[in-house]
Amino acid sequence: MGSAPGWDHMKAKVQVMKFGGTSVGDAACIARSAQIAAGAAKDSAVVVVVSAMSGVTNRLIDAARRAETGDRQAGAALLDTLRQQHEAVLAALVAAQEARQPVLRRLQEIFAEGQRLYDGTALLRELTPRTLDSISSLGERLSAPLFAGALAALGVRSEAVEATELIVTDAYHGGAEPRMDRTRERCEARLRPLLQTGIVPVVTGFIGATSEGVLTTLGRGGSDYSATILGAALGAGEIIIWTDVDGVLTADPRLVPEARTIPEISYREAAELAYFGAKVLHPKTLREVIPAGIPVWIRNSFAPERPGTVITREGRRIGGGVKALTAIRDVALISVGGPGIVGVPDVVGRTFSTTAELRASVLLISQSSSQNDICFIVSAADAQRTVEALRHEFAQDLAHQVVEHITVDPHIAIVAVVGERMHGTPGIAGQTFNALGRESINIIAIAQGSSETNISFVVEDQAMKAALLATHREFGLHSPLSD
Ligand code: ASP
Ligand code: MG
Repeated sequence: MGSAPGWDHMKAKVQVMKFGGTSVGDAACIARSAQIAAGAAKDSAVVVVVSAMSGVTNRLIDAARRAETGDRQAGAALLDTLRQQHEAVLAALVAAQEARQPVLRRLQEIFAEGQRLYDGTALLRELTPRTLDSISSLGERLSAPLFAGALAALGVRSEAVEATELIVTDAYHGGAEPRMDRTRERCEARLRPLLQTGIVPVVTGFIGATSEGVLTTLGRGGSDYSATILGAALGAGEIIIWTDVDGVLTADPRLVPEARTIPEISYREAAELAYFGAKVLHPKTLREVIPAGIPVWIRNSFAPERPGTVITREGRRIGGGVKALTAIRDVALISVGGPGIVGVPDVVGRTFSTTAELRASVLLISQSSSQNDICFIVSAADAQRTVEALRHEFAQDLAHQVVEHITVDPHIAIVAVVGERMHGTPGIAGQTFNALGRESINIIAIAQGSSETNISFVVEDQAMKAALLATHREFGLHSPLSD
């Protein structure tokens, strides 16, 4: 049966692909990424999401802070540099003059808007979260028309779309949350018609707008989240995060040279890894796709022949259930205790209301059943004020030696062994601690949540690398897949 042109685009499942900062870092990178998108657009409906060119968001924010001090030059100088950079990339990507003109005009409008934002900030010497969001969004707003131009130059019909038209959020500037119902309606109204006529929308990552139309950002690194929000809104068949690494690795390769790419992991495992600082995904990325079970791929735009990692609901059983290791440094262990606290019912409660009041996020908690001691971990940046607040809270108890000590140890690291199928697999904790014992690595504290998706332990920071190497080998993570 012959089908009319466009039929495929109407029927095919949508593919959302996001290109991160390094994947759009210069003209050659954008050209390579545009080739990838053009290839995919041959047989499915594709939505592209782009980050700012790498480094741009940081520079925009730095200049905004300078403008806040009254510096009128910083913003102007940065915009000049960015103008040269983006125009040079445009010239390299789009040879035809007629095609280049409208993109150039668009870039100029955005630069003019940027100039007004910096001028206003310098004049008022005030940088509200709302203005900071508008300034930080400029990078994505510049890269989307460039990418759309690159696609057009490859003969792919495309249109740059600002996500302020698509992603409706609350008004929490700097870390806004999407309103999915409204976002779904907007995507149906604005993106679906483009997809149905075979046009590839190129959407700005990182940003959205309140229902009143005020621009917001989803938080630093939020373009991943933009991609999954749009994917969920459109009921996409898959989402591909194109980045500069091969996927999710079994461990940080700078610490564990034998680390390798994991072919498939579950949403839960990926979330554990994101939480524990494996910086592959923005921590909120999977939130909206979990209910729909949409697979999310992590792939390397610099080596598109490699398969990458797919994140799915089920994951895939590999080896003994342990998938990956992760470690966090820059944390401190705080301990509150002494024999006097045994049976004092409110010590735990007061300890954690204190951390809650400070908004210090607690990464790990461990208490032995003898109740002699509660220990927990906070980021190094929060350690000092947490200890001070605790000493204040427990001043009376310290005076009467109900609480004997409140101590802090900054020379530690957390190592986590992650794998959803560890659940109900006996022996993993034993194996972990045997391996550490063999290497004479001392364990300071241990925690395993009852979800059994991860076992975390605390070691001296000097021992972290050895702990990673020993457990990586113990669980056979270095060897080719045994699934
Ligand atoms: N450009 C934004 C940032 O650097 C968002 C992103 O790249 O994901 O935070
Ligand atoms: Mg980024």
